[in-house]
Amino acid sequence: MVKRISLLGATGSIGIQTLDIIKEHPDQFQLVAFSAGKNIETTKQIIRDFAVPLVSVLSEEDAIQLGKEFPQIEIVFGDHGLVQVAAHADADVLVNAVLGSVGLRPTLEAIKQGITIAIANKETLVTAGHLVMKAAKEYNVPILPVDSEHSALFQAMNGEKRSEIAKLIITASGGSFRDRTRDELKNVTVQDALNHPNWSMGSKITIDSATMMNKGLEVIEAKVLFDIAYDDIEVLLHRESIIHSMVEFQDTSVIAQLGTPDMRVPIQYALSYPERLTRQNAPRLNLAQIGKLNFEEMDYTRYHALKLAIDAGRAGGTMTTVLNAANEAAVSLFLQQKIGFLTIDELIERAMNEHENLSDPDLETILHVDAKTRNSVENMVK
Ligand code: NDP
Ligand code: MG
Repeated sequence: MVKRISLLGATGSIGIQTLDIIKEHPDQFQLVAFSAGKNIETTKQIIRDFAVPLVSVLSEEDAIQLGKEFPQIEIVFGDHGLVQVAAHADADVLVNAVLGSVGLRPTLEAIKQGITIAIANKETLVTAGHLVMKAAKEYNVPILPVDSEHSALFQAMNGEKRSEIAKLIITASGGSFRDRTRDELKNVTVQDALNHPNWSMGSKITIDSATMMNKGLEVIEAKVLFDIAYDDIEVLLHRESIIHSMVEFQDTSVIAQLGTPDMRVPIQYALSYPERLTRQNAPRLNLAQIGKLNFEEMDYTRYHALKLAIDAGRAGGTMTTVLNAANEAAVSLFLQQKIGFLTIDELIERAMNEHENLSDPDLETILHVDAKTRNSVENMVK
C-alpha cells in the first residue's frame, strides 16, 4: 500500500531530503500536500516535480502569485495553511520538518485526524511535548522520530521492555567550535558557526549544534518521546557522528545504531517503519576505513546551553517553552549579526530566570508564553 505523505517545511534541509526519499520509492510513497516558507523558486520546482493538490506558503502575497501560475492547485498560506497541509484528509503520514514551535498546532491537528507523525521538528516537542504525547495517546497515533539520535534510540530499544532500559546515551559531535575553549568563542562570526564538521543542515540547527543547545533540545526530545527520567539520559561527545546514539539495558548490555552521517537514513526509516527499504547507491559504513571512534565526557561548563536545557527540562511546565522560544529568538538575532555568539546563552538564561513557571500548561498558555518570551528577548537587546 502506498503511504500518502503531507510535508511541512519541504524547502528546508530535511524537507528536500524527504522529497529525495519519496522520489527514490515512487511505489511506496506519494506526496499529497506540502508547505514552504519564503523560498518560492524551490516551491515552484517542487510543484513541477510532484503533482500535489495543496501547497502552503508563508505570505498571502506569494500565495496569490503562485495561484495565478498554478491555477490547477489550491494554494494556502500562513499558520492556517500549515494546519491545512498537516491535517490533509488524504494523508497517512505527516513529515513535520518545519522550523520552530510554529509546528506545534499543525502537529496537534494532524494527530486529531489520525495521521501518523514523523517528527524532525524538535522545537514542537520541546515547547509542548506533553500536549503532543497526550493527544497521540488519545487518538492512538504513532509519533516516529526523524532526528538521527532519536531514530537510533528508537531502533535500539525496538522490541525491548521499557523497564529493562537503564539509560539512554545520546551522542554529540561537538559542533563547529568543539576544538575551542569558551573564551575563544567571544568573537566568532556567523560564518564560523555555520561551518559544521559532519552534517549539512539548516542554519538554525547548525547554530544550535555550535552552542550545544541542539543536544539540550534533544535530551528534552528524548524525555518526551521515550519517557525516560533525566537522570537516566547521558550525553557523550563523539566527534565522528558514526554512532548515532545507544541504549544501555539493566543487564549492562549496550545497543548502538551506527551509520554514515546522512539524514536520509532516519527520514526513510520513519517513513517505511516498521519495514526497512533498500537505499540504492547510498554510501555504506566502512569501519575499517574510519579506523577509530572517539568518545569524551561532556563538559557542562564549556557547553552552558546544554545545562540550561536540562535545567529547563527538569523544571518542566512552561520552562521548556521559554527555553525554546528564547533560543529561537536569540539564534535569529545572532544570524542577523545583532548579538555575539555567547550572548545567545545569556539571553536564554535571563529569560528563564525572569519566568514564573506554570505547571501542566494548555495550548493557549504555551502559545502565550512562547510569544511573550520572544518579545522579551528582542527587547533585551534593544
Ligand atoms: P531549514 O531552515 O533548512 O528549513 C526549514 C523549513 O521550514 C523551510 O522549508 C522553511 O521555508 C520553513 N519555515 C521556516 N519558518 C517557517 C514559518 N514561520 N512558517 C512556515 N514555514 C517555515 O531547517 P532544517 O531542515 O535544518 O530543520 C527543520 C527541523 O528539523 C528543525 O526543527 C530541526 O531542528 C530539525 N532537524 C534538522 C536536521 C537537519 O539535518 N537539518 C536534523 C535533525 C532535526 P523556506 O525555506 O521556504 O522559507
Ligand atoms: Mg540530531
